[in-house]
Amino acid sequence: MTTVETRYEPDRTRLGEILSGQPSYRIDQLWRGLYDEGLEIEQITTLPKDLRRDLATLLPSALRAHTDLVSEAGETRKWLWELRDGDSIETVLMHYPGRSTVCVSSQAGCAMACDFCATGQEGFRRHLTTGEIVEQVVRAREAARPRRLSNVVFMGMGEPLANYDATWRAIRRIHGDLGLSARHITVSTVGLVPGIRRMADEQLPVSLAVSLHAATDSLRDDLVPINRRYPLDVLLEACREYVGASGRRLSFEWALIEGVNDTSEQARALADLCRDLRAHVNLIPLNPTPGYPTVGTSPEGVRWFRDQLVANGTNATIRQNRGTDIDAACGQLRSSQHAKAQPVAAPARRPR
Ligand code: SAH
Repeated sequence: MTTVETRYEPDRTRLGEILSGQPSYRIDQLWRGLYDEGLEIEQITTLPKDLRRDLATLLPSALRAHTDLVSEAGETRKWLWELRDGDSIETVLMHYPGRSTVCVSSQAGCAMACDFCATGQEGFRRHLTTGEIVEQVVRAREAARPRRLSNVVFMGMGEPLANYDATWRAIRRIHGDLGLSARHITVSTVGLVPGIRRMADEQLPVSLAVSLHAATDSLRDDLVPINRRYPLDVLLEACREYVGASGRRLSFEWALIEGVNDTSEQARALADLCRDLRAHVNLIPLNPTPGYPTVGTSPEGVRWFRDQLVANGTNATIRQNRGTDIDAACGQLRSSQHAKAQPVAAPARRPR
């Protein structure tokens, strides 16, 4: 666990404590430099030089760019960050017409053990801190300029609801201090029911996505092991609670695996679940990962599955797959460097 307080960890009150003895406008200057302008502390020239030097030591950056890769002519960018304790995580920035989305990690590794996911295959190492999560967003926001970072999705490495407190503090910071609207923040979960219930009690109506992947318990027990603890009826009840409390539309993620969950039986069962909850389905063909032999459904198979859902009265879209060539796509994030991918931009080394 990181013991040093990194740059985006302290809230305003805590920054005030760190700056005690300084005039109070120094807090505003530091805050503005970090949150509004995304500057390195050394670059916050409204602060005196000595103070900048002290603060840079007291509040080091949490992330050092180890690898920085781009794909699709820069429309997708992935960083492998080295954390202060030597562990590493990934963040992906994706530009679309009219919006830019950052996909952030909430844990180094993941304990949920979904076989088809590269992060699940490497196992759990530790939770990320609020500062490590928020800094991913700030770095992506700065990299996105002149485009405006509009969306944050917790779909990177880890299970955000297994790291609830740090994740929720980060969400409040992203909403309140970085100024993103709650509905442009999406928490994706494997289906941790207690976490979904806690979210229903929160004030911020963020969007909820559930990685469903199977609509019957027998298949889901296999694909998503946490289903044995929180089976579908319990999970769907928690989803219903969240939709009722937040007024937000629910979405289900469904990675189509050839011959496994792309059948008409699964399509019918899924449509039944969705109708009742008025949920939207995001379909994506399974992306290749090192430790899982089964392949993704063909493009025609994906369209066929979508048509089955639509014919059964369910809203379904096929998610545009991004960054497969740099292993930046859903389920491909992990901590090691990828031999086949070459850095196209010089790693942006920053002082820390
Ligand atoms: N743990 C959270 C957040 C991760 S989001 C969750 O499970 O929702 C990452 C998404 O990519 C999840 O929907 C996950 O199920 C999906 N995914 C994992 N491996 C994949 C793969 N190989 N191909 C496509 N999607 C995958």
